[in-house]
Amino acid sequence: MSDIDFRLEVRRWLAEHLTGEFAALVGTGGPGREHEHVAARLEWERELGRAGWIGLGWASEHGGSASFARQVIFFEEYARAGGPGRLSHIGEYLLAPTLIAYGTRAQQDRFLPPIARAEELWCQGYSEPDAGSDLAAVRTRAVLDGDVWRVTGQKVWTSMAQLADWCFVLARTDPHETRHRGLSFLLVPMRQPGIEVRPIVQLTGTSEFNEVFFDGAVTAAENVVGSPGDGWRVAIGTLGIERGVATLGQQVGFARELDEVIAAARANGLLDDPVYHDRVVDVWVGLQVLRHHALRTLASAGPATSGVEASVAKLLWASWHQRLGELALATAGPEAVLLPGQPYELSAAQRLFLFTRADTIYGGSHEIQRGIVADHLLGRSAR
Ligand SMILES: Cc1cc2nc3c(=O)[nH]c(=O)nc-3n(C[C@H](O)[C@H](O)[C@H](O)COP(=O)(O)OP(=O)(O)OC[C@H]3O[C@@H](n4cnc5c(N)ncnc54)[C@H](O)[C@@H]3O)c2cc1C
Repeated sequence: MSDIDFRLEVRRWLAEHLTGEFAALVGTGGPGREHEHVAARLEWERELGRAGWIGLGWASEHGGSASFARQVIFFEEYARAGGPGRLSHIGEYLLAPTLIAYGTRAQQDRFLPPIARAEELWCQGYSEPDAGSDLAAVRTRAVLDGDVWRVTGQKVWTSMAQLADWCFVLARTDPHETRHRGLSFLLVPMRQPGIEVRPIVQLTGTSEFNEVFFDGAVTAAENVVGSPGDGWRVAIGTLGIERGVATLGQQVGFARELDEVIAAARANGLLDDPVYHDRVVDVWVGLQVLRHHALRTLASAGPATSGVEASVAKLLWASWHQRLGELALATAGPEAVLLPGQPYELSAAQRLFLFTRADTIYGGSHEIQRGIVADHLLGRSAR
């Protein structure tokens, strides 16, 4: 099958399946709208899984094997069809490639199939109250007790923890080591008495992320990826993936969001204003630049780009997305400062603007990305 036929096949499948009970999901569940139709979106994920659309980019022995071009085609068609925000993306795009790169065959066999069927959702337990940018400062600890690890500590900003079945946790397993030595990458089941999830209300009024408290939570001894004490290498590998190919999935809705802003501008006659028109063109050009930059670097580098390439891509897309949020507010005009409904109902433009404030923080803040570019591309003296 040619890539064109593949595109037509994806488009046809989406047109046939985003109908009936799933029609109401079109355009839902995006940034700041993660609370929408959760149960139905989970059903939708399972529909995707049954058709083999989850794990397209995994190695062929794990049911993937789609070329990079086809993964991009799938993202593009998904966005064009208004496919709902994904729930299983952390498992599919972060944990699965990590297990394929660093996990044992037994771990791959245990964890990849339920991700591909959207039966187990994952969250990422890295950040802690005093360990965000400085991830090596994590204080959550795990102790091997017979055939289980006992995990104690606190994570924060854990996206999707309220829905997740499992969490990959960076924990200190050797109390005698400091910083990036003596850490382990553990796979911990979320539904157990030793774990408490507390949602954090965000600017959007919704709660996509949470605090997660571990109080002697257990996981089987074999649920450590890489060797005990080797967790930093694995965790950094996952971060390369997070800033690399996974961002294509995240960027899935950008063109669609821009289309919506332009449609709103057309409706209120703003496109006739040359100054506003210039802003739209600027944002449109920016989108083309970042898309082609991502395609070029990811096509040459594979799923995990080098730190510096991923950092450049992240600086580009996060800044661009914030500019889009600002354009959305400008398009709404004076109404942008009024809530359309009580107690805290937001318009699409307000939600987009507020959510994009987070883009320069998660996955490594802008300052951290600039530090990486300064160190590894320009040379430290350029900082
Ligand atoms: C929407 C969202 C979702 C998230 N989801 C997850 C998740 O699922 N799992 C997870 O583990 N984490 C998640 N995070 C957390 C995210 O990774 C951290 O917020 C981020 O790494 C920054 O850490 P921090 O918040 O502790 O800020 P800090 O590290 O305390 O930084 C505070 C400020 O100081 C600056 N700064 C810090 N160090 C330096 C330095 N060396 N040089 C220059 N400036 C510096 C930072 O850029 C920032 O402006 C999420 C965050 C957001 C906003």
